[in-house]
This record gives sequence, C-alpha cells and structure tokens, in this order.
Amino acid sequence: MDASDLKLLPPDIAEAAATFEAQLDACGTLDALMRLKGTFTGREHSLAARLMEALKAAPKEQKRELGALANQLKNAWEEGIKGRQEALEAVKRDHAAAASRVDPDLPPPMPLRGALHPLQRLQDRLVGIFAALGFHIEEGPEIETEAHNFDGLNIPGDHPARGSSDTFYLEQHPDLLLRTHTSPVQVRVLRRLAPELEARGGIRFVAPGRVYRKDDIDPTHSPMFHQVEGMLVGKGIGMQHLKGTLEYAMRALFGPATAIRLRPSYFPFVEPGAELDVSCPLCGGKGCRVCKGSGWVELLGAGLIHPNVLHYAGIDPEVWSGFAFGLGVERTAMMVSQTPDLRLFFENDQRFIRQMGGLD
Ligand SMILES: [Zn+2]
Repeated sequence: MDASDLKLLPPDIAEAAATFEAQLDACGTLDALMRLKGTFTGREHSLAARLMEALKAAPKEQKRELGALANQLKNAWEEGIKGRQEALEAVKRDHAAAASRVDPDLPPPMPLRGALHPLQRLQDRLVGIFAALGFHIEEGPEIETEAHNFDGLNIPGDHPARGSSDTFYLEQHPDLLLRTHTSPVQVRVLRRLAPELEARGGIRFVAPGRVYRKDDIDPTHSPMFHQVEGMLVGKGIGMQHLKGTLEYAMRALFGPATAIRLRPSYFPFVEPGAELDVSCPLCGGKGCRVCKGSGWVELLGAGLIHPNVLHYAGIDPEVWSGFAFGLGVERTAMMVSQTPDLRLFFENDQRFIRQMGGLD
C-alpha cells in the first residue's frame, strides 16, 4: 500500500491508517492495546466498521479497489494488534515468573516453633519433682490383664469398676482391658523387683501414663486421661513419710507457702487410705470460686500400701511397707490454669495451647 491508495479513504481514516504502526508501538500495556483495538477493529464505530460503511456507499467503479484496500488495512491492523498482544503477554508472564522465583539471598520463612503440649509439660514437671527425690520412672502397657489392673491391687471381684459399664474390655480378648489407672504398674514393678528388694534397700518410682474409663466426654470427664502414680517401699515406712514426701512435692509444684492436709478415705490397694488436699493455689487459702470458698482443693489419693498388694507381688508385708499416691494430670492442669473445660486440652486449638502458661 502506498500514499496514493490512502486517497481513496475518508481523510480521518487515512490519517489513522498512516499512524497505525506508530500508535501500536506506543502501546506499552495490554490495557492501552485493548483501547487501540477498539478504535481500529472494534465491532462498532471502529475505523474498520466505518471502512465497511464507506465501501457500501462508494461508487460502483471504486468498490473493487476500495474493497481490496479495506481488507488489506483490516488484516494489517488485526495482525499488528495480535502480534503486539502476544508480545505484551509474554512480558507479563516473564514478570510474574521473576516475582515468584526463589531468591537464595533472602532469609528463609520462619517455621512455626513447636512446643510440648501443656499436659506433657505438667506431667514432666511432676515426674521431675519426684525424680529429684530419687524416684525413677516406670512405664507399663495400656492394655492390661485383669490380674494386674484389679486382682494384684486387692480390688474384689464384685467391685463396680470391674464391670463392662465402667471399663473397656477388648472384644476379641475379654480377659484384657484398657487400664483404668496407672496402678497396675505398681504390680508389675513390685513383682519384677521383689527378688532385688533387699539388695536395693527398697523401691521408689513414679509411673506416668494414659488411662481409660467408660466416661462420656463432658467438661470434667474424658474416656482417656493421664495419671502420675508414685510408690515407695522400704522398711519402717509410715504415714509420716507419705506426708513429708507429698508436702515437699506440693510445695515444689504450687509454691513454698502451700499447706497440705490428709483426710481419711478408702481405696482397696491402700490401708489406711487418704485424700490429699492442698491449700488453694489461686487464693492462698482465703477462699475463692475454684476452692468453693473452703480454701482447700482435693488433689490426689494416697495411702500406705495394703499388705495384700505386697503379698501378691511376693513381698513380705511383715518386713516391708510403703506408700503410694496417684493424681490426675488433667485435673491438676485445670486447677492450676483455671481451665473450666477439660476438652480444651484435647482440641489442640493453637490459641488455647499458646496461652497455657503456669504449667511449667
Ligand atoms: Zn481458692
């Protein structure tokens, strides 16, 4: 096409056609290019549309030449715009790729720092307090026999805890159950170490772990929870040793001003048995919502090991005596942290887990 061809066109179209290449080159963005496309080849009111109208209106003898020219121009515009569009899109893709490219000079994104669960922290702390007194750690299986979970602990055959409404028995092995307390570890350890008792001069250990009971989940119950059990066997061990040990432990846990008291209670595997109360760690004994105004909170069960338990394990209760205690980790954690709902400890909501201070 040369300048003489353009003389056939209306003057403004001729001018636009002459500057098309320059306008195309000036389009630095896809938005600008789309506006240019509208102007030149849009469906309505564009230069191309007007060319078609001019062609229709042209005298018969010009139609052929003008038609060829219009087609040539329209094709040139469409090709030009398409080529420019591809180029601009390629530039855009390159920019996006560059933006997402790994820059080895940047510091790496910081991973979230993991931490032990609050219940694990409290359990570790409890175990650590007794470890400082020379108690070693013992663990036992969570699937137990009736003998270890009940018989060896002087729990009679008609005790309600032995019923299938309280305890999970294994369907395929009805003689096996999920332990209902950490106390079967007592039976296992006593039996294992009985032959060495004299040489060792006694036994002292703590047994932390999971236990299971057929309780529905509610704010204060869970079918699975954690206990820390402790036991000491020696010669001439009495309530004074139990009281002194627990007083030390409770002061280590709740602070040096903590007072304890023992109230008579009954557990089949101890005689005498006791409940231990601590002066309320939240109000210091003055009385508050947590201690229900009494100044005391019930924390654990304890007592002197029942002679039948020692005898079952092959230990002579005339020579040896001892004490045992057990407490619930969740219950203690709820008290220390004033958490009203046990379920919060198992839902693993990061917001709750993070704010659980005071447990270690
Ligand atoms: Zn209180």
